[in-house]
Amino acid sequence: MQLPSIRSFNAASPALPAPKPEAAKEVEFSYNSQDRLVMNPGTTVLKDVEAGPRTERMAMKGTPLQPNEDGNYVFEAQDPRSTSAVAFSAAQKTLETFESALGSKVDWAFRRPQLGVYPNHADRPMLNAYYSRNDGSINFFSQKDAVTGTLIQSGSSGEVVSHEVGHAILDGLRPGYLAAWNSDTGGFHESFADSMAILMGTQDDRVLDKVVAQNGGDLSKPSILSGVAEELGRGINNASGTNRTGGDYLRQAVNKFKWADPRTLPERGGPDQLGHEAHDFSRLWTGAFYDVMTRINQEKMDAGVAPRESIKQTGEECIKLMANLVREAPKGQFTYRQMAEIFVKSDEKHNGGQRAGLIREIFTERGILSPNLYASAEDAVPVSENFRMVQTTLRGDGFGQFEGAVVKTPVDEAFPLGKDVETEKRTREDIKRLIDAGRILMTDPGQRVETKDLFDAQGRPYVGVVTWENGRMNIERVPIIA
Ligand SMILES: [Zn+2]
Repeated sequence: MQLPSIRSFNAASPALPAPKPEAAKEVEFSYNSQDRLVMNPGTTVLKDVEAGPRTERMAMKGTPLQPNEDGNYVFEAQDPRSTSAVAFSAAQKTLETFESALGSKVDWAFRRPQLGVYPNHADRPMLNAYYSRNDGSINFFSQKDAVTGTLIQSGSSGEVVSHEVGHAILDGLRPGYLAAWNSDTGGFHESFADSMAILMGTQDDRVLDKVVAQNGGDLSKPSILSGVAEELGRGINNASGTNRTGGDYLRQAVNKFKWADPRTLPERGGPDQLGHEAHDFSRLWTGAFYDVMTRINQEKMDAGVAPRESIKQTGEECIKLMANLVREAPKGQFTYRQMAEIFVKSDEKHNGGQRAGLIREIFTERGILSPNLYASAEDAVPVSENFRMVQTTLRGDGFGQFEGAVVKTPVDEAFPLGKDVETEKRTREDIKRLIDAGRILMTDPGQRVETKDLFDAQGRPYVGVVTWENGRMNIERVPIIA
């Protein structure tokens, strides 16, 4: 997105040090794939870590973090430095895990080699975290729990960190998605991010011990694996005084949501009601994906694999399924149904179709695929190399001060949502809902818009922002995602 007035675009980035020739340096870090409500951090080992700390692909930002005398970054759980170490190690491990499944490197969507990790913006208290393409960074915050009084730091949760790195990875592979307006594309972004958080837990032995103790390996029963961001979720519920999320978690992957057209849903649902807002609507896709995990795991256990090992193997396999999906995924705006069809086909193309039938069955049970829309395995999947932008002008009732604004929507020719006039109609409806929900930021011509201006009073990034071009009002997608 072009937001020429954002200051950070023009900030000179410091020259990177030349890579050092000596052998891979192994450094131990505090690490937690969950959060402190669930368990205290353990440790992990990262390779090729330079002072900062930094690696080829990640750089710690904010307050510099010094290693201990032994050169390691291992701290007591309540030491503020522990949060920084966990944020950094969880970010690096999430990227490595996904790239290993993908079999190739992910190029960031911003023009810098390293993703910046800000473990805690202490000057902006809130219960949130976000990825910003503008700054090439993931950002974490803290706030006191309204009931328990403990300081909740989103950067101390490996799940929240993996979620934000998930956004950065998907933005690198499919930058068009952060230009899309519909709930399905936004919901998939959130689900991909939550799935990365869940899958990282399957690769952590300490988590597996607790999960098996909780459900014996039956993933259809809720556990710390299916609950995402327990500490943050509890903090949000305590701050609002209501059980908004349904339990001590931000989102729950064990759920029964079925497809409903997001245009018919309220903005925010509840524990058992889907809403059209991206995080809310993501729960449907995550629930279906977690069902796939549950069934694969059950199959392995039925074949005699012990629960702990079975969940680990299932996690490894599901990271690959997700990587295969993204390799074939549309470049522009899409519907869940289109993405589910690609999920089936990506498995046929890259995994010999081993899980294609299962994916089809589960996404049909969820109402995302319709039984009579099964595509045949022989269908070649045309995937265009790029997407084009369909331009829509907002005219008609209900646009208020945004009347006449020009909005662009990314369309991948291989995944049409109808003719351009239909794309324009959908975009008008999507934008109307966002305007009604207060998710579009109005600006004045010539106003200098900085990254910090792109958040509402609750600290949520706006979905769209008005930019001005020779007196013409445009609404552009904000490339920041919480
Ligand atoms: Zn998110």
